[in-house]
Amino acid sequence: MQADYVIVGAGSAGCVLANRLTEDPGTRVILIEAGGRDWNPLIHIPVGYMKLLDHKQLTWGFKAEADPGTNGRAIAYPRGRVLGGSSSINGLIYIRSQPEDYDHWAQLGNRGWGWDDVLPFFKRAERWTGDEVEIHGTEGNLTTSPMTERPEACHAIIEAAQQLGLEYRPDVNNLPRGAGDSIGWCQQTRGGRLRASAAVTYLRPAKKRANLQIVTNALVHRVVFDGKRAVAVEFSRQSGVERVDASREVLLSAGAIGSPHLLQLSGVGGPEVLQKAGIAVRHALLGVGRNFQDHYIARLSCYVRDLETLNERARGFGFANEIMRYLVQGKGMMTFGASLCAASVKVLPESATPDVQCVFAPASYKPGLIRRLDDRPGITGGPWQMRPLSRGYVQVHRGEPAGTGRAERRRVARLRALERFDRLPRELLVHDGQSRHGRRRRPAPSPRARGAAGRRRLGDAGGQLDEHERPDDHDRRERRDNDQIKRARETGGLIPDTRRFPRCLLQYLVHVPRFARCDRQPVAILGQQQPLGDQSIHGLGQACGPGIT
Ligand SMILES: Cc1cc2nc3c(=O)[nH]c(=O)nc-3n(C[C@H](O)[C@H](O)[C@H](O)COP(=O)(O)OP(=O)(O)OC[C@H]3O[C@@H](n4cnc5c(N)ncnc54)[C@H](O)[C@@H]3O)c2cc1C
Repeated sequence: MQADYVIVGAGSAGCVLANRLTEDPGTRVILIEAGGRDWNPLIHIPVGYMKLLDHKQLTWGFKAEADPGTNGRAIAYPRGRVLGGSSSINGLIYIRSQPEDYDHWAQLGNRGWGWDDVLPFFKRAERWTGDEVEIHGTEGNLTTSPMTERPEACHAIIEAAQQLGLEYRPDVNNLPRGAGDSIGWCQQTRGGRLRASAAVTYLRPAKKRANLQIVTNALVHRVVFDGKRAVAVEFSRQSGVERVDASREVLLSAGAIGSPHLLQLSGVGGPEVLQKAGIAVRHALLGVGRNFQDHYIARLSCYVRDLETLNERARGFGFANEIMRYLVQGKGMMTFGASLCAASVKVLPESATPDVQCVFAPASYKPGLIRRLDDRPGITGGPWQMRPLSRGYVQVHRGEPAGTGRAERRRVARLRALERFDRLPRELLVHDGQSRHGRRRRPAPSPRARGAAGRRRLGDAGGQLDEHERPDDHDRRERRDNDQIKRARETGGLIPDTRRFPRCLLQYLVHVPRFARCDRQPVAILGQQQPLGDQSIHGLGQACGPGIT
């Protein structure tokens, strides 16, 4: 097999790249995905999300290694293994983040990634189905929608938040620079009744193009080099081990765990790590798999009275009614994803903008990652520190392509904002506006918890502290974005991960910016072959110019 571009991984990034690169009928692209087709209905019915987190076929079944910071717990780490990747199993929340996050990227040296630069790409990517407003795009691939329903339990949370001084924002994606503490209704990557995954919105329209070949159930083992140039990848499927050659580029979009793992399996990484795993060093690059960041969430639930929650709606006659509503009107709880409303709040005195996000659901869950609803009415708030201070790593530990990258993190030691913030959901959940409804169910970790005791309590926290399923890793600390691409070119023909973000995580959700990022990345890959005339895009294209031909 041979193509101009070989893309590894058909997740959020890979699907966008495959679509954009095949717009030119003269460019041949092969997209290789370890998972299968996205036929499972649980993927497409939004509420099916709850059943996918530990799905045997549709996820990789990763676990973070047990860590003292998590009280010795090895936390499950869901990642999609199917067309659409994690966009086929995620919580569907569409929030772009604060303008200041992007401006900060630009300040770090990533010129062209400030808010004013990326906003046109958000709009270009988006097909907003709500009321037409300037901040949303309507012509793009990614269908986004307002919630189909605004349950009373969430109204009560929003009301309580306003009483605590949070501003209600009618559109959570319309945050001006300088916005303070706020709360609003989530928006979703959903079109009508169905999830708008990257596979549905980007890959499906490109599938019929003769210049795109999609290979599923194919596990990539390694990138093949000719000297320092990436020229092919080796993968296995039922028929055995095969090789696909790339005459232009190999694009790694295998995700925050898959991409560094694959680089390491290919001999690109820290020599010590590679040698320990018995892998010959082809290109020493210390940062591969380092600086791993994620959003670590502490879910807090309480039982409520006089309010309807999903705990009851998901049972018996109520559930049958929900199914009918979904089928007939495309509305109701079957269209819900992970959360329905979201607050962002500044809790650290040194932060210039909100530093904790908390998402709320009109449901409560039994302890553990897998969402099993409580038997009594309840609601849940899940805060995470937007700019995590902890760092971890993804480290290969055997030279085998079994997709067993090790993800280890030390995080709780630096969860300062979370220690303080755990107060807020409690206040929201049992605040005046709510107290007529709410009663706290489990003791939350004390906001005064400090040091080792505090860490233990956070780690303990009734098993409520989980990975928030949005990791991002950065293979070079302090590295600048344009620099990343240039340095990747040291190996030639290889873009190690097109969706890699600069040094700091966005404060909100990482899926959404990924679309904007990947929607513009092909321009960088194609460089001056397809100048769009945009100053910033052109700049990025030029930055990687030398490696393009
Ligand atoms: C449970 C969950 C809930 C989330 N909720 C939200 C949310 O509500 N809102 C939001 O904005 N973000 C959310 N996210 C985050 C968001 O979905 C991800 O950040 C995003 O999808 C990652 O895109 P990606 O392209 O980097 O990786 P992925 O989408 O994970 O794609 C990587 C692909 O590469 C494939 N792959 C990996 N290794 C190999 C290999 N060796 N050979 C072949 N193929 C390989 C994988 O199977 C996968 O298909 C959530 C994520 C998860 C897991």
